[in-house]
Amino acid sequence: MFEDRRTEEGDVLRAVIDTVVDGLIITDQDGTIRILNPAAERLFGYAAQEVIGRNVSLLMPPDHAGTHNGTMGADHVTDQTRIMDVGREAVGRRKDGSAFPINIAIGETKRGGELAYVGIVRDITEQKKTYAALAEARTRAERASNAKTEFLSRMSHELRTPMNAILGFAQLLQMTPNAELAPEQYQDYLQSILGPARHLATLIDDILDIARIEAGQFSISVQGMDLVATVVESIAIVATMAERRRVAITTTLGATPPVLADPLRLTQCVVNLLTNGVKYNHPDGAVHIETTPLGGGRVRLTVEDTGIGIPEDQIGDLFQPFKRLHPDHQEIEGVGIGLALVKQLVEAMQGTIAVENRAGGGTRFHIDLAEADQVQPAPPPPVRGVLRRPGPLRPNGAAPKVALYVEDNPANVHLMRTLFDTLPAELKIAYSGESGLAIADAEPINLIILDINLPGMDGFETMHRLKNGSRTASVPVIGLSARATEQDRDRASALGFYRYFTKPMNLPEFIESVRTVL
Ligand code: ADP
Repeated sequence: MFEDRRTEEGDVLRAVIDTVVDGLIITDQDGTIRILNPAAERLFGYAAQEVIGRNVSLLMPPDHAGTHNGTMGADHVTDQTRIMDVGREAVGRRKDGSAFPINIAIGETKRGGELAYVGIVRDITEQKKTYAALAEARTRAERASNAKTEFLSRMSHELRTPMNAILGFAQLLQMTPNAELAPEQYQDYLQSILGPARHLATLIDDILDIARIEAGQFSISVQGMDLVATVVESIAIVATMAERRRVAITTTLGATPPVLADPLRLTQCVVNLLTNGVKYNHPDGAVHIETTPLGGGRVRLTVEDTGIGIPEDQIGDLFQPFKRLHPDHQEIEGVGIGLALVKQLVEAMQGTIAVENRAGGGTRFHIDLAEADQVQPAPPPPVRGVLRRPGPLRPNGAAPKVALYVEDNPANVHLMRTLFDTLPAELKIAYSGESGLAIADAEPINLIILDINLPGMDGFETMHRLKNGSRTASVPVIGLSARATEQDRDRASALGFYRYFTKPMNLPEFIESVRTVL
């Protein structure tokens, strides 16, 4: 009976040793291997017979075996059985000599005066890879978060600085009695407001572009296009500025294959590089622009200048937003965001951009783009332009023209009233879409100027109803919106606005549109 039970226990134990997923190695006191289970055979690549009777150091790389004394355990034991090591990281060696990370837990047991060590071994290669990947992801997240904080604090500074000048001079104007202000002084104050305000508008555009790209909400329409035409157009845009600074722009534009890019965005990039080449240059310096087919389906655009160059140790920071690298040249205007945007745009067009200092001074930028088979025909004009010819105005003879402005913001209402003081037309105001509809339905109106961001019924809904109202359908509507997303413009286009302006709007252009309608 007793014997039976012992045999049964032995069988169970044997089955456990054979099927357990962890490797099991049992050695005697001097490290001689007595048992190696199938899991351990798989881990180390040995058959049990090959290692039984040999020293356990066989399963460790030589440099690790040395520290182990040829055994798995310590040299002094008092209890019958104890767990010596609940698990530690070590290195195992396979039969083919390759090393791999293991976790090993060691117990010690004494049977009939003989010490034995029981080692449970687990391969932790995957676990270590996961840990490494996690650590890496964490470092990356931390870096991104730091960059964001840095970006925000710089942005806050960049926005507040011009705003400070705008508010400062506006308050100065407010405090000075009209009579005391000489005309030149008045103009000076105005310029001191307009300059930073324009700067701010550009900055906001660029920041929004970057944010949209990062949020993946930026549609770039890549098509086969003529690179040379873009270069010529970009040069025309910066020509006046280059002349003023006495910087010559020269070109080498040989036979250039069409490239895959978004024409508007590529122009934005080239203008940016050219502007920098002119800005960070010396009087009588030069900017050279060149196109080169690279072969392998790529085309290179090179913009190089004879300017002040970039400090070599900071060249890696060049494409970081708000990094300006010439602190002793603060007089050169800029906000340090142009190149960051250029890089994002180029990469969104599947291109690459690189920069180096030229040996003789100055810098050289390369943009490499994919070659295209052919130039695509020009796309339909963007929605920003004239959307629809005005419908026939009511033939009400010499009666005064009436415009209705639907807007909830008092400052904008004030601006529009001031504007209309210079026009031969009456201006009515509605502070909501609902009241705008009511007025337009009840009175003869020649032009509606409609803000889009209205409380309650928004401008798009108001427009929809205007176009479906029998008395209002033919009245031309000019849309004004602070939102400039592509979806907004598409929506505006579908709704049939006469014109659609994005705030801050170009006043002369706006006045021109109003005059045309009235
Ligand atoms: P910004 O010109 O508005 O400062 P950019 O992002 O275009 O911003 O450029 C970042 C910085 O890189 C600039 O402030 C300038 O220090 C440096 N830089 C850019 N282009 C050139 C160039 N062609 N030559 C020398 N330095 C340049």
